[in-house]
Parts: sequence; C-alpha cells; structure tokens
Amino acid sequence: MSRNFQAERLNLQELAQDGQPWSETTLLKDLQRLANEAKGLNPSDAVQWQVTGEFRPQAGAEDQVWLHLTAEANVPLTCQRCMTTVSTPLEIDQWYRFVDSEEIAMAEDDEAEEDLLVMAPQFDLMTLLEDELLMALPLVPMHETCPVTPVFSAGDPAVEAAEAKPNPFAVLGQLKKS
Ligand SMILES: [Zn+2]
Repeated sequence: MSRNFQAERLNLQELAQDGQPWSETTLLKDLQRLANEAKGLNPSDAVQWQVTGEFRPQAGAEDQVWLHLTAEANVPLTCQRCMTTVSTPLEIDQWYRFVDSEEIAMAEDDEAEEDLLVMAPQFDLMTLLEDELLMALPLVPMHETCPVTPVFSAGDPAVEAAEAKPNPFAVLGQLKKS
C-alpha cells in the first residue's frame, strides 16, 4: 500500500483508515525549538517516532479518531553540574483522542487519561511531536556521574536555584488544551 502521509499536514481520517503503524525518523535539527535547547547537536541526531491511528466507536455519534504516538531520541543537553554535554534519552508514549471542538476538549480533559485534541482536516504532527519532546526535557539535565570535576557541588546555591526553576515548557501542556 502506498503511504504518502505528510507529517505537517496529516490526514487523520486516512491514517485511522489505514490502521497500520507509520514509522519515521526526523532530524532534531529540523525541530527548531528543540534544537535551540540542545548543546552541540550532531547533524545526524534524530528522533525515531511511530504513530498509529484508529477509529473507536462512541455511543450515538460518529466514530472518534484516536492516535498513539511513541518516540525515542537522545538529545545532547548541558549538564548543570559540570557544564559539559550530557546525552539525554527522551521517550514519548501517549494516546490522543480527537474531538469536535475546544469546548468538548476543555470539558472532558480533566477526567481523561488520554490527551484531547481538536479534530483538524490537516493535523500538524510535527508540532505535537516537538511539544511532547520539549515537555519531556529534564528540568535540570545532569550526568549520573560527571566525566569531569563538577563546577558546582551538591547543595551549591546555583544548582538549587536551577532545580527550583519551573519548567519553561510546562506551559505547552496548557497551550495544547487552550
Ligand atoms: Zn556532568
């Protein structure tokens, strides 16, 4: 079967009809907001992702589209203890349910385990993937064991300040729902 899905303008109905997992690799340098957070990104650094769509029946209405997204990447970040690069594994495994309107998404989101998104004829999967990766970034990237003598030691005010900072991407979780 020919599969000419476009990740930036994904036809969710077609993906759900197809029903097969769609796997791709995207270079991290092409995800600009994520690339901005990285340190010493290699041109070949990439995220491997897979998405599957399916229709699920709901009582008294049209079938709903559900989407399952998984992704794995190693992102080079700056270790906040020794300030050298730390390759940080990120993993995404999330279900989404597509609803007809913002109102429904807002009303049902709190009790739903899956994330609710508003149905669109052309869905931007790349932005969703990048948002998820940004939200998965550790607040304070750090080696388990630093390869060099740490600049800061544990209990250092600088480290504590960094740990107390809110995740700047936490807001994305809110934006997604609004
Ligand atoms: Zn380190």
